[in-house]
Amino acid sequence: MCWLRDGAAAAPTAIFIDGFGEPATMTNGPDAERETKSRTDDEYDVAVVGGGVAGLSASTFTARDGLSTLVLDAGESILRRNAHLENFPGFPAGVNARLLLEMLGDQAETAGADRQTATVETVETSDTDEPSESDGHGFVVETVDGQRYRSQYVIAATKNITDYLDGIEGVGIVDRGKSYVDTDERGRTGVDGLYAAGRLAEKPHQAIVCAGHGAEVAVTLLEDADRGFYHDWVAPEGYFSDRDREVPPGCEEIDAAEREQREAASLDAMSEYFAEPHPDEQETHPSLREESE
Ligand SMILES: Cc1cc2nc3c(=O)[nH]c(=O)nc-3n(C[C@H](O)[C@H](O)[C@H](O)COP(=O)(O)OP(=O)(O)OC[C@H]3O[C@@H](n4cnc5c(N)ncnc54)[C@H](O)[C@@H]3O)c2cc1C
Repeated sequence: MCWLRDGAAAAPTAIFIDGFGEPATMTNGPDAERETKSRTDDEYDVAVVGGGVAGLSASTFTARDGLSTLVLDAGESILRRNAHLENFPGFPAGVNARLLLEMLGDQAETAGADRQTATVETVETSDTDEPSESDGHGFVVETVDGQRYRSQYVIAATKNITDYLDGIEGVGIVDRGKSYVDTDERGRTGVDGLYAAGRLAEKPHQAIVCAGHGAEVAVTLLEDADRGFYHDWVAPEGYFSDRDREVPPGCEEIDAAEREQREAASLDAMSEYFAEPHPDEQETHPSLREESE
């Protein structure tokens, strides 16, 4: 389900830019002008490898700031094995973890991100290949099916899977029985433009921590891309402008009518999400699955 696409809500936040790394034209408001950036279907500002909690959270932030964002996900978030998620803030009675992943995915799409179910086989810096038409640098991401995407930035969020990064010089892999990517405190790896988020970046094995880290890494990327002071905030009308302040990049002021419309849409959407038990079966550890087959 994607509630925005079903027409149940309108929260226009997808924005586009003229070129990589340039400040976005703010189009967060409903009346805002939209600019489209010419690019081919397989060229993105940001490729997110892994669409579990960290990757989906990161993609929501990069897409909401107007970076064209693609999430490539093999569909095996370890959170799918959870029996009932009781410590993710915002759900006082807990939540079905498969439902939460679905909602995170829908939120990323609503923000403007594209999603593909695919396993990434390699990520390489594009100077080992033909230069990108956009700016001559970045990455080439290739899936096991042979689909190739170019992006200026890559956020890796694949928990303990690192083999697809083997072709890039400068990525530190930490082996502690499981593999992790060595990063600084903001998720930067040793390679410019390549970030790691969530468990892969050695964050604690909790969904909210990994989701929060995905958001932090995305904001770090936006800062590194020099896209201006950035808070992704929706504020009441006049909050900045009545104090003779510019509405800062990433922020939006909405009036009371717009706020009521968005709240009504959110009530409808949430009622739909929670109307029935989620249809996906709870998954278990692969070794137990094999035993029971
Ligand atoms: C049984 C169980 C119960 C749990 N219960 C809780 C709980 O109650 N509360 C809590 O906070 N945490 C819980 N967790 C932990 C939580 O699930 C993880 O900490 C969290 O999911 C990590 O997020 P992540 O985004 O880093 O990784 P994941 O959510 O695992 O996402 C990684 C994604 O990367 C994808 N991927 C991997 N390789 C590739 C590739 N080459 N190409 C494309 N995609 C790829 C995977 O398919 C996956 O979708 C539980 C874990 C388990 C096993």
